[in-house]
Amino acid sequence: MLPGSATERPAAGWGAEGTMAAVAGAASEGQPRVDPGAAGEPERKTAAAEQRQHRAPARPRAAEEGDARDPRQPSPLAPRSQPALPRAPCPQRKARGQGRSCKRSSSLRADESRPRRPVTVDSSKARTSLDALKISLRQLKWKEFPFGRRMPCDIYWHGVSFHDSDIFSGQVNKFPGMTETVRKITLSRAVRIMQELFPEEYNFYPRSWILPDEFQRFVAQVRMVKDGNPSWKPTFIVKPDGGCQGDGIYLIKDPRDIRLAGNLQSRPAVVQEYICKPLLIDKLKFDIRLYVLLKSLEPLEIYIAKDGLSRFCTEPYQEPTSKNLHHIFMHLTNYSLNIHSSNFVHSDSANTGSKRTFSSILGRLSSKGVDIKKVWSDIISLVIKTVIALTPELKVFYQSDIPAGRPGPTCFQILGFDILLMKNLKPILLEVNANPSMRIEHEQELSPGVFEHVPSAVDEAVKVAVIRDTLRLMDPLQNKRDAQPQQSENPEDPSDGDMHTAPEGRSHSETSLPSICLKQVFPKYAKHFNYLRLVDRMANLFIRFLGIKGTMKLGPTGFRTFIRNCRLSSSSLSMAAVDILYIDITRRWSSMTLDHGDSGMCLQAFVEAFFYLAQRKFKMRPLHVQVASLIDLCEYHLSLLDEKRLMCGRSGTAGTRPPGSSTPQGATPSEGTSPLGLNGANKLSQSKYLLS
Ligand code: ADP
Repeated sequence: MLPGSATERPAAGWGAEGTMAAVAGAASEGQPRVDPGAAGEPERKTAAAEQRQHRAPARPRAAEEGDARDPRQPSPLAPRSQPALPRAPCPQRKARGQGRSCKRSSSLRADESRPRRPVTVDSSKARTSLDALKISLRQLKWKEFPFGRRMPCDIYWHGVSFHDSDIFSGQVNKFPGMTETVRKITLSRAVRIMQELFPEEYNFYPRSWILPDEFQRFVAQVRMVKDGNPSWKPTFIVKPDGGCQGDGIYLIKDPRDIRLAGNLQSRPAVVQEYICKPLLIDKLKFDIRLYVLLKSLEPLEIYIAKDGLSRFCTEPYQEPTSKNLHHIFMHLTNYSLNIHSSNFVHSDSANTGSKRTFSSILGRLSSKGVDIKKVWSDIISLVIKTVIALTPELKVFYQSDIPAGRPGPTCFQILGFDILLMKNLKPILLEVNANPSMRIEHEQELSPGVFEHVPSAVDEAVKVAVIRDTLRLMDPLQNKRDAQPQQSENPEDPSDGDMHTAPEGRSHSETSLPSICLKQVFPKYAKHFNYLRLVDRMANLFIRFLGIKGTMKLGPTGFRTFIRNCRLSSSSLSMAAVDILYIDITRRWSSMTLDHGDSGMCLQAFVEAFFYLAQRKFKMRPLHVQVASLIDLCEYHLSLLDEKRLMCGRSGTAGTRPPGSSTPQGATPSEGTSPLGLNGANKLSQSKYLLS
């Protein structure tokens, strides 16, 4: 096993024997805490009846829990389609920022005495999620505009990306840059930065290398570990970047087996340690698709759906050997692959077949004595930590696509988290999908080669609930009070892990609907995770110095201004050395990212430079302490500068922005993560810099 790898540290409290057999022998906890049918069953009937009446034309592909394929998917680094315009002066920015926040819904609070107008939803770009969306809208009694509308709608439902149509107001169900941010390479890089800072907290992601750049490093590290431990017989999985549905994935036993020939240069990939001991059910490997709602980026708000899907392999699992490496039905859980196996079992029941609800799996584990609250709590932690790793990059995209001072919509997004449970029940993150499939039908082979699309009750139960309840949470006309999360759970501790709690707040018109299936996990558990948000704070600094053009790269002048304004140069770090640092790191990152877009320093390069500066300034401390100290120092000097400018009556000058303007969606920065806000902790640590 590689040092620092996900497989190295089993979760505390779980023995190595996490198999179903071992679990079966464990002490029973009494009544299962999760009622697998409770959330989905009643509504499935309603939804199925709805769907029969209002089914959209059959789609050409089966319901697939991978990314919905986008034939027009732009290159992650393609030039932005919306031209960036200069920002408006500070006062306008502030007013507009407030207007764009997700919190804006409170200012639109409807007069409860008057009848509510229906919420309007433009579904013209919904694509494969259209069926589930239609059912959701009918259940909510909202007004659908299937061909768009001349007047603005409250909500725009896009099937693929933020850019599906030009929107200047309302809410859209995609964030700009999300597809690029969760691509395999970008995700691996983002998690690796977090692993450098917090190795223990981020050991839920398998050790990964980026190809072709890190091929030599991959070979060298594997050789080093093998030399130290000759009995180590690892397996690796190679996944093309931007691939989905198992496309192009293969397993290898030796780094030399990587197919370097061919198009690896043009199609980069991630090679990852293969998790050899997954939890098996009915001797089959399976994974979990969980739906996560990113309700707001700033302040960060995350919800997790109480139910998801489990996708099963169709060939009994055996640990990888050179003989079975190519058995995709044994090793890959993708629905799109396994549907072609003769062993694939389609079932309308939630707890049998090759696609089941996650709650049915939990019910089964619970009946065998597994502490499913612990499983949930580990999954909640994994989700929050992953989102924390992704938000810095997302913020950079956001400010570039919707520059402050320009009209723009508020964004939210449903993400698909693919998670593998290890034999010891530790959850492992496989990937994050920006466009999880929301299809509610599946392909059935009537006779050889003849396929028909039929409703899939399991898909419908889970996905309609996720879409409908996302809309309920985003309801712009909803009384804010109704949207408040339940206070009955312990707000301090994610280990309460109970995803099947009492209904969340509901409006009078919603009383006929099931309770909301999405549970807020952030800011609810923020106290436990805010200390991890260091890169987020670095991104706020980065954005501040990007300038006014809505770019995503920091120019040399911006970097110099950052160093000067944060007082980081000294006799031992001259401005000439700063320039060399900038050129060095920027050049390396530009070649690594095969980036032919804007020139300049990308966020990851800035983070690398920041780490370097932190290590120089605060020697002999753990990296996360060094980095946190440098962030404190930078924020402190910038706040002094802002105060000084305010006193002089000057709003921002070139290369800087006024406080808060770096905050996407213009909302109040969350406590402890303020880009420039001086929270209590910062004030304390600042005093030491004042003294020195
Ligand atoms: P895709 O986007 O093409 O579906 P994934 O990263 O989800 O790519 O991988 C496809 C499948 O391969 C997963 O559903 C899972 O079954 C298996 N898999 C991926 N990564 C690993 C891993 N590190 N260890 C074990 N199995 C994995």
